Order: sequence, then structure tokens, then C-alpha cells
Amino acid sequence: MSDSFVRGLKCRICGKAYPKEPLNFCTDDFGPLEVDYDYAAIREALSREKIELRNFNMWRYRELLPIDGEPTVGAQVGGTPLVPANRLARELGVQQLWLKNDAVNFPTLSFKDRVVSVALSKAREFGFTTVGCASTGNLANSVAANAAAAGLNSYIFVPADLERAKILNTSVYGAKVIGVHGTYDQVNRLCTQVAFKYGWGFVNINLRPFYAEGSKSMGFEIAEQLGWRTPQHVVCPMAGGSLICKIPKAFDELHKVGLLKNDPKGSVKFYGAQPAGCSPISTAVKNGWETHRPVRKPNTIAKSLAIGDPADGFFACKLIRESGGWAEDVTDAEIADAMALLGRTEGIFAETAGGVTLAVTRKLLEQGRIPKDEEIVICITGNGLKTQDAVAEVLEQPAVINPSLEEFEPLVEGAREPALV
Ligand SMILES: *Cc1c(COP(=O)(O)O)cnc(C)c1O
Ligand SMILES: [Zn+2]
Repeated sequence: MSDSFVRGLKCRICGKAYPKEPLNFCTDDFGPLEVDYDYAAIREALSREKIELRNFNMWRYRELLPIDGEPTVGAQVGGTPLVPANRLARELGVQQLWLKNDAVNFPTLSFKDRVVSVALSKAREFGFTTVGCASTGNLANSVAANAAAAGLNSYIFVPADLERAKILNTSVYGAKVIGVHGTYDQVNRLCTQVAFKYGWGFVNINLRPFYAEGSKSMGFEIAEQLGWRTPQHVVCPMAGGSLICKIPKAFDELHKVGLLKNDPKGSVKFYGAQPAGCSPISTAVKNGWETHRPVRKPNTIAKSLAIGDPADGFFACKLIRESGGWAEDVTDAEIADAMALLGRTEGIFAETAGGVTLAVTRKLLEQGRIPKDEEIVICITGNGLKTQDAVAEVLEQPAVINPSLEEFEPLVEGAREPALV
């Protein structure tokens, strides 16, 4: 890869320019910083043909990602399937349904591998040798794995009550894992102090502007997989509220650099999904508030989405409102049911966040907020093998028999197939 197309960073509130450094907020108004690209130059440099010749992973859109050289971390991340979900569509009574399946993202089975590969490639460019994060689980897994593969030290801070699988899937990579008694928001505050005191690269703190850009690759892939066009409706889970802002940004950028067949402005509606036990953003959208009010004590099985004070809450509310979409939240029981529904209709085992997104989709269809005869994409962001307890109760227990045909026969439902001769 030649030169970077990044001009620097700029404040999302006042637009003030900052250099390309590990900074995350504006010193004038504390507004979050974002990456500023030279789109005219990217338009010159990039074409559909050029992209299509590259390997199918997130780095085929490298000109629109904020690293200066070749990716040195997570070079195989992304390129996940966009699954036509016909059986689920029939069940929901809709005509065209797709699942963007990041439950099978490499290497740690969630969309967080996208943000981490950008953040850690950037961390190496900046010369960090120790990295870290505050996490609700998936980010922990991804930072730990990708840091291990890149030879970086990692310190991972998580709420102490996290699912066992998410902790184990972090420790196995040799990361230093710190369980903190407290909510994600308290963990995050501690990490801000640690990042400042030790000068480490925290992917979702001082590297956040770069990190967040990785989420766009999910949007780039959806558009390309649909034949370089956008769908009418996108349903997306929300924790910090970043991903739901980056998918539309990806669509807009593809349009800006001349790669899309349609103009996504005003033609795609975005819907945010949260668990009822931690729904600051969906509650704000439903009440017509300009921004969210923090939830002090999240209480939900969807731990990956349990961020009470989402960093991008304001922007997520604005984006949803302006796109003409909506937001909803669902109970733990609805989440578990939806996980089972996805499994038995499409053969996809999503984590609780996937259950949240599918259950919210169903609710919005019932409310008539999403029309049943238009094209819908549901974002599946994590893998069910990490949150098995959440769905265990709603599944049928296996039948246990002695090794005898007589005991098996009463278990057979329906007609007998003719015996093979
Ligand atoms: C982090 C995460 C999200 C939401 O991400 P934000 O960008 O913080 O809103 C969604 N699903 C899963 C599985 C996650 O781990
Ligand atoms: Zn500012």
C-alpha cells in the first residue's frame, strides 16, 4: 500500500483539526475526534475492479481505513458471509432478509476483530508495545488474541461478573486479565486513568478514533455483497452506539468515492437494538430525547451490550432519527427465544446480542415500523458458543436412552422413510 489518505483527526462537534496521534477528544469542547480522509484522492485511487481483485477480507477497502502502511495485525479479519435467510424470512413473514454473519469472524468470532485489527495495527505504527481495553467480553477476546499474534503485551479490564467463556477466551491468549467489581462504565473510567498513567495504547480510549473506523468494514462488505448497493433497512445491536453510526458512514463513503450504484442518503433506515435491562439509547429514541440518559445498573443476559453510558449515544440517537428508523428493546426471555429461532431456522448460533437484534427486528415488524415487503439486513455480531447459558433453558433436553432400538422408536416423529436396500 502506498501513502495513507488520512489527513489527520477532527472534532465531531466543532470540526477543529488535530494531528494523526493517539488522541480521542477535543481540548476545546471534549467532543470525540474522528479520522479525516482525503476523499477526492481516494476516488482517484480506488475502483470496484481494484477492490474485487483483492482477497475477501476487510483490508480490501484499505484506502478507507486509517492505517499508514500494510496492516500488521489482523490481516485476515472480515470477509464474513451475507446469508440469504429465506427460512427465517418465511417465519417472520418478510420477503427479503439477509444476515451479515460476524459470528464467524476471524479470529475470535465477533465483529470486534474488525475494530481491533485497525487499533492494534495503529498501535504498532505509534510504537506502543503494551495495549489494553475496557470490555464487556468480545473486545477482551479480540484484543488478547490479536495482541498475542502480534507479540504485543495486553492488559484487559472486564466487569468481574462476565460470562466464564468470555474470560477464558481472553486468558488463553496469555493476556493479563483484570476482573473489576463494578459496571462497564466504572471499568472504563479506571482504564482511562491507567492509559494516562502508564502511557499504554487502549484500543477504545486513546486509540478510539482509529479503532472505531474498523466497524465501517462491515458496511463496506454488506454493500459489496449486495452488488454495490444498499438495502432499505438495517437492524444493528447497540452497546456504545458506535457500530450503528459506522455502517451508514461506510455507505456514504462508498457513494462519495464513486463505488455505489445508488445514493444511500435518505434511502436506508437504521434500527437500533438493545436489551431491556440496559437500553439507554433505545429509550431515548422512543421518548424523542436528543440524547440518552445513563443507566446506572445494567441487568441483562446480553452482557456484551451492557454499557449504561454509551460513548456514542448522542450520535446514535441522531443517526437513527435522521435516517427515519427507530429503536426497540427486548426482555431476556425474548432474547433467548430469538437465539433459538435463529438456530433452528438458519443453522446459525449467535450470542445474546444476536438474539437482541433478531427479537427487536421481530418486534419492529409487528409494530409495522419495518415494512414486510422491503429488503432487510440484520447484523449478527457475535457467536453463541460464548454465551451458552443464556439459551440453555429454552432448548429441549436431549433424550437419554439405553442402546436399544425399542427405546429409540417411540422418539421418532412422523412418517418412516422407506428402508434403503
Ligand atoms: C461491542 C458489541 C456490539 C456493539 O458495539 P458498539 O459499537 O459499541 O455499539 C454489538 N454486538 C456485539 C456482540 C458486541 O460485542
Ligand atoms: Zn471540538
